[in-house]
Amino acid sequence: MSHHDAPGDDATPLSPTEVSRIRNDFPILDRRIGDRPLVYLDSSATGQRPISVLDAVQEFDEMRNAAVHRGAHTLAGESTELFEAARHRVAAFVGADDDEIAWTKNATEALNVVAYGFINATAGRGGEAARRFALRPGDEIVITEMEHHANLVPWQEVAAHTGATLRWIPLTDEGELDLAAARDLIGERTRVLAFTHVSNVLGTINPVAELVRLGRAAGAVVVLDACQSAPHLPLDLHALDVDFAAFSGHKMLGPTGIGALYGRREMFDALPPFITGGSMIQTVTMERTDFMPAPTRFEAGTQPVAQAVGLGAAVDYLQHIGMARIAAWEHRLGQRLARGVTEIPGVRLLGPRPGVARAGMAAVDVAGVHAHDVGQFLDDRGIAVRVGHHCAQPLHRRFGVTASTRASVYLYSTEAEVDAFLNALADVRGFFG
Ligand code: PLP
Repeated sequence: MSHHDAPGDDATPLSPTEVSRIRNDFPILDRRIGDRPLVYLDSSATGQRPISVLDAVQEFDEMRNAAVHRGAHTLAGESTELFEAARHRVAAFVGADDDEIAWTKNATEALNVVAYGFINATAGRGGEAARRFALRPGDEIVITEMEHHANLVPWQEVAAHTGATLRWIPLTDEGELDLAAARDLIGERTRVLAFTHVSNVLGTINPVAELVRLGRAAGAVVVLDACQSAPHLPLDLHALDVDFAAFSGHKMLGPTGIGALYGRREMFDALPPFITGGSMIQTVTMERTDFMPAPTRFEAGTQPVAQAVGLGAAVDYLQHIGMARIAAWEHRLGQRLARGVTEIPGVRLLGPRPGVARAGMAAVDVAGVHAHDVGQFLDDRGIAVRVGHHCAQPLHRRFGVTASTRASVYLYSTEAEVDAFLNALADVRGFFG
């Protein structure tokens, strides 16, 4: 059982009645785009926020605002308490201990903290404890061909700084990881295995347990990009047994400007910090500095406190509804999307075909029409989708396209919205043809 599903919580999909009640908590969903109701199908890029999150942030700003961990005054005490309570809620939500969660700006920053930990360790920073992160030529970093640039470019940087070699697990035509190739690739040279839990383009749900097993057998540090899983699936990082994981608040009903890095405790304390300065130190002389243990060593500078409090309220909201139920609802919508797009002539679905488990999104290529034109056409009907390469250029290249149109759902999405997208998509080629 995942930490965040209460005992007895089942995996029955949300009912349409419950979803319409949920929608009342999201003021933005009442917006109109021109004379059309907004159909928001871009939650994989960023999610919308319920009133409880908006209120938590406002209440903090109005009544509690103060710098945390400093100052003896009452407000500083209250803000610190709320900040740490949010950390506790988020940690419990992903199956971690409180001191295994460091706040970051977003998942991108979290992944960079890990990557630059390796770079700094290779440069001799962090002493004996950090040696496990030191790389040298001949060492290999294994990622996948489906990574978001956030889990790709930082590893290119690590390779460039350390002389290690970057390798990647290829994809099958179905948009799944080629596990036979993964078994060949991951071996004694592998020092890092970094992969996404769920593809932000294909919707593929990767076999984390199998990959972790391969990484562990090789003695690699295992890094999980949980950006597209933490918001949508029950997630238990201790059970998954990864070393590091990254996710963003704005994709899981929280504010922008807040994300988190999970680090397994022994790894976390050993990783040299990336961003240095105030609030992360034990003692400073003019010559040298001793850093605090994790997570404080990764939280230099004044923190995004209101945003962290907002993210705490967001995971409360998700937990109250139940992640298993949310996942089941999104599975249903995702299958409807995938099935629907494959029935439209001239539209090609990227990623697993309908019937195969996939996340609640569908990226498509429309023959003869550029994704930006598709996006404009849909926007004229009030339908918000993401177009372009979705920060995954190599993935698009793998499937012979430069861009795609992606519709993605969340707990507040409805079957009628999916159908509105499918109906509009069916009209695209006629309009541009
Ligand atoms: N990883 C994946 C799989 C994503 O989908 C995203 C966001 O699109 C990111 C990383 C980066 O997230 P952020 O831009 O919030 O840092």
